[in-house]
Amino acid sequence: MSQRMFKADGLVLRTRPLGEADRLVTLLTGEEGKFEAVAKGARKMKSKLAAGVDIFSYGHYTFHRGKTWPVITSQDSIEQFTWFRDNPQLYPYGIYMGELVDRLVSGEEPCTSTFNLLLEGWRLLGSCDDSYIICRSFELKLAHLAGYSPHFHSCSACGTAGASKFSPRQGGMLCTHCASADVISIDKGTIAIVERLISAPLSQAHLIRLSAGQKKTLSRLTSAFLAYHLDLGDIKSRTLLKEYNT
Ligand SMILES: [Zn+2]
Repeated sequence: MSQRMFKADGLVLRTRPLGEADRLVTLLTGEEGKFEAVAKGARKMKSKLAAGVDIFSYGHYTFHRGKTWPVITSQDSIEQFTWFRDNPQLYPYGIYMGELVDRLVSGEEPCTSTFNLLLEGWRLLGSCDDSYIICRSFELKLAHLAGYSPHFHSCSACGTAGASKFSPRQGGMLCTHCASADVISIDKGTIAIVERLISAPLSQAHLIRLSAGQKKTLSRLTSAFLAYHLDLGDIKSRTLLKEYNT
């Protein structure tokens, strides 16, 4: 980001008021990574920028490099994720996905895969009716991009095949002999589902059918795995999701 003017397509992760009438906008882009930029006058009634710098905006932005933050000089909307206004049940999922990415991407390094994953996740929330499974697949894929995926093939302590307990701390299976107190019992069918949620395209996650028991196991597994390995246990918006609100 050395040139004085630059352009980027970005997703707005969050915003906060700045000074009398400005907004400080946290943007996720593919090439420039995550950064904050000032939308001058965006809190004034007649601001041309206002609509394009709200959370869930996806736009093409032009910036001028300022003293402290880049300043947004123009924006064109690419896509509006209107579901977050129209469907209050989807809103927590959109907020949660954005907050996970916000916490995981630390700076101005290119993060095209993460950007594309969030863009697809937000799109799918509006077009699929199973936001639960989209969100679980999103979490597992995000962890995979960060270098963490659960391993299921054998006991991660002694190597015994056919282990049936998942240890969030180990990020893998433990046999009954090696299992500690915090393990989660998981059957082969649920293991196959988790592996499919990681490897199959996000757009196919809604094709997976889960029993009530599998859903409960999957929620426990993803919740504990993200808390241990990505330090994401205290994400605020997590409590908005009914599956984690216990
Ligand atoms: Zn073992």
